[in-house]
Amino acid sequence: MTDSALTEADFAAAVGQAQVAAKSYYDTGEVLMTDADYDALLDRIAQAKQAHPEWDDGGLTMQVAAGVSGGGDVRHPVPMMSLEKINGDEGVRTFVASLGGEPCLVEVKLDGLAIRVEYDSGRLVLAALRGDGSTGENVTAQVLRGVAGLPAQLATEWTGEVRGEVYMTVADFEAASANRVAAGAKAFINSRGAVAGSIRSVDRTYETPMTFAAYDISGAFESHRERMARAAELGFPVAGRLATGEAQVATDAEAALAAVAHIGELRRSLEFPIDGAVLTADLESTRRRLGSGSRTPHWAAAFKYPADTGSTVLRDIEVRVGRTGRISLRAVLDPVFVDGTTITYATLHNPKFVEEQGLAIGQTVAVWRAGDVIPRVTAPIGEQPHGLTPWAPPEACPQCGEPWDKSSLLWRCHTASCSATNALEYWCSREAMDVEGVGEALCVVLVNRGLANDVADLYQLTEEQLAELPVGNTKAGGVVLLGKLNAAKVVASLERSKAQPFNRVITGLGIRMTGRSVGRWLAARFKTMDALRAATVEEIAEIDKMGLIKAQHVVDGLSAMSGVIDRLAAAGVTMSVPETEGDKPFEGRTYVVSGSVPGYTRTTVSERIEQLGGRASGSVSATTTALITSETTTAKATKAAKLNVPIIDPAEFAEMLAD
Ligand SMILES: [Zn+2]
Repeated sequence: MTDSALTEADFAAAVGQAQVAAKSYYDTGEVLMTDADYDALLDRIAQAKQAHPEWDDGGLTMQVAAGVSGGGDVRHPVPMMSLEKINGDEGVRTFVASLGGEPCLVEVKLDGLAIRVEYDSGRLVLAALRGDGSTGENVTAQVLRGVAGLPAQLATEWTGEVRGEVYMTVADFEAASANRVAAGAKAFINSRGAVAGSIRSVDRTYETPMTFAAYDISGAFESHRERMARAAELGFPVAGRLATGEAQVATDAEAALAAVAHIGELRRSLEFPIDGAVLTADLESTRRRLGSGSRTPHWAAAFKYPADTGSTVLRDIEVRVGRTGRISLRAVLDPVFVDGTTITYATLHNPKFVEEQGLAIGQTVAVWRAGDVIPRVTAPIGEQPHGLTPWAPPEACPQCGEPWDKSSLLWRCHTASCSATNALEYWCSREAMDVEGVGEALCVVLVNRGLANDVADLYQLTEEQLAELPVGNTKAGGVVLLGKLNAAKVVASLERSKAQPFNRVITGLGIRMTGRSVGRWLAARFKTMDALRAATVEEIAEIDKMGLIKAQHVVDGLSAMSGVIDRLAAAGVTMSVPETEGDKPFEGRTYVVSGSVPGYTRTTVSERIEQLGGRASGSVSATTTALITSETTTAKATKAAKLNVPIIDPAEFAEMLAD
């Protein structure tokens, strides 16, 4: 059926459907229809209405929030009006023309719920939702539970009324949604629905952070800007200043259109949701002159941007390791057009959240574009279709097969080759190049800023670059910079690391299935990086305990890192074992070290043994020359005794190594 073929009965049904969906959305946060679907339905209603102006659309096509909510117990002393909807650029021109050259403010229209709050001598005494405009629901208790920007007690003993929007920032939304899902309820679809679902919920057991911004305040003022200056002075966040700092002022249509376009451009980068721009007369004299209708003022109107929420079918969930080693979940979607863009991929929350929601491949989900460029899948829509199996995250990293580190919600893989951050951290670790002062926080910021994408980049860093990097937060929420002193230490430590022995360089590359031992074996066998890179899988596999699989990883890893290795060599990092001086007193001997040897770490003791021509091994066998330990009752000591392998005291062995 085409739109023009809508019968009057179809039209009435469509109007009813839109009203039910809107009411459900505003009153309960329960989504029957996403914003994009709702807008499409409204477009059809508007088209039919154009052809048949006499049909009753219940005001749906005229107002921004028409007839969406029932009333409540609280009567508003002055009605809480809705805003007339501006249609396109022509609507903006018409509205600005009606102001007759007097200043027009262009501000963000927050996507939340309208609220009215009364203060008595600085104390919050009443909070009520807009409802039907004349009466609204009393939500004082829920607001007192905590809404940022609406303190229970103001700093001054002000008595009056403030009006504005209660909404959720993207961060509020993420926290509220996660808390709600953890409490066993459905996730929220987007910010407005989340506010609607939260603010009326008297007995909710989970926290849903919300935020307030003012757009009106009681009292006599000459202009809106003066009014908002007073609101700010009282400590209320001001809606009109949120996105653009100062209010945007226009006195002609072109300037107003530019301001509307500017907010539209900012929309994607804002960390809070807006659904339009409000155009409002600044001067009270203009407002008095224009007056109000029964439901909307004539001195203000709203320009709506396209809906930022759509629905589509979830086709797959891709699991990857992000550049900082954290798990990243990407939803593959049936293409859906939301806010001017066709979306086929979206981010998902952490695995636990996805599991708890019971998301399944094949299910219809809501997609929300807010706060950043990447859209997010927020929640399943409707019941899960029969026969779908809820998605379960893989137990291991799909890139390296190692089990996840699940100590935080965003699981982590530590394998060096799985992420740039991991590679840097591993290179600098004590068992590899032992670079001091380079921890996880610094590696993450180096990668995020593009200063180090691989380990060779580390040797190009300057003290100036490093000193300015944020590496943590103070308790008060301030940023801690690395600082000049620490930056100098890091650069000096990196410089020193160039002289680390060749085996550590090999280890530091973080090739899969290799570690300290493999680094030592490869260095001892091939002596130079050139020889190692020229070695075949078979040649490497000949090394005792290496085997073909590890050898293949070594060849593949060296090949993948070939550019990095060249740049490390150019930076002056050790690429060979030094020509041996003197004889090899440990030639042909194999030692097993159990416990610590004074003056050595586990790594350096093995390195020293091999430097002297011997072999360091982990297990006692008939070919072991001696076991180094101070214990006599351990399994190794017992085995050594059984095999007649001598036991040397660690202190004595330290002297042998020193010779
Ligand atoms: Zn991995």
